[in-house]
Amino acid sequence: MRLYYLAEMTWPEVAELAQQSRVALIPTGATEAHGPHLPLETDVIIAQGSCRRAAELLAAENIPCLIAPPFYYGVTNFGMPFAGTVTIPAETLTQLVVAVCQSLAGHGFTRLVFSNHHLEPAHFAAIKEGARQVTESGAARVAVPDVRDERWAATLTEEFRAGARHAGAYETSLVLADRPDLVHIDKQRSLPPVWIDLPDRIRHHGARTFKEAGSDMAYFGNPATASAEEGEMIFQALARMLATTVKELLSR
Ligand SMILES: [Zn+2]
Repeated sequence: MRLYYLAEMTWPEVAELAQQSRVALIPTGATEAHGPHLPLETDVIIAQGSCRRAAELLAAENIPCLIAPPFYYGVTNFGMPFAGTVTIPAETLTQLVVAVCQSLAGHGFTRLVFSNHHLEPAHFAAIKEGARQVTESGAARVAVPDVRDERWAATLTEEFRAGARHAGAYETSLVLADRPDLVHIDKQRSLPPVWIDLPDRIRHHGARTFKEAGSDMAYFGNPATASAEEGEMIFQALARMLATTVKELLSR
């Protein structure tokens, strides 16, 4: 099965693909602290792994799709107390989303779906705002499926639904599935659980960083229980979310 990674293709190959398909997937993450056991590119790994599996599902249904290079930078204020985290302004991200979508649309890819796995509210909002602007302009139809929505969260894990959504078992399992070489297993297995509902701390207690939300090590939930098997199950759910969104865009 052939997958189409934009960055690895030549321009004539891209032009040929555009004759067969209007669909592109755009993985977005962040460069952000994820506990003492996961790499800073955790969200990018999850976004890319979801796109690869979604492209495989769609290819099996004769819907080829382009996979754009990932966004490595996002609005990442929550992780800023922790070394290595990089943040950009929300307006910058929105402008980047608009420019990338317009460029892809100009080459014929007018059904665009974001695979975003950096869940900071201002980051998600900035991507959705860019998508709205592009869709409203008529240049392309852009969808940003949101794992926090009940429709999709219901297909994920108990820990995710409980709001312990950063560098816990959920994200650790996903990284174990695709990049086990980047997980510090000795640290991961000895971490005590941090049962804090992160969205609740943000919404009702005004937390602006992971530290303010109650985590000194930039993780929530129970990373010690993570496994590659759980990660593969979650990836399949995330891939179905993307594939379903693509098909809904094509049928509209
Ligand atoms: Zn993350």
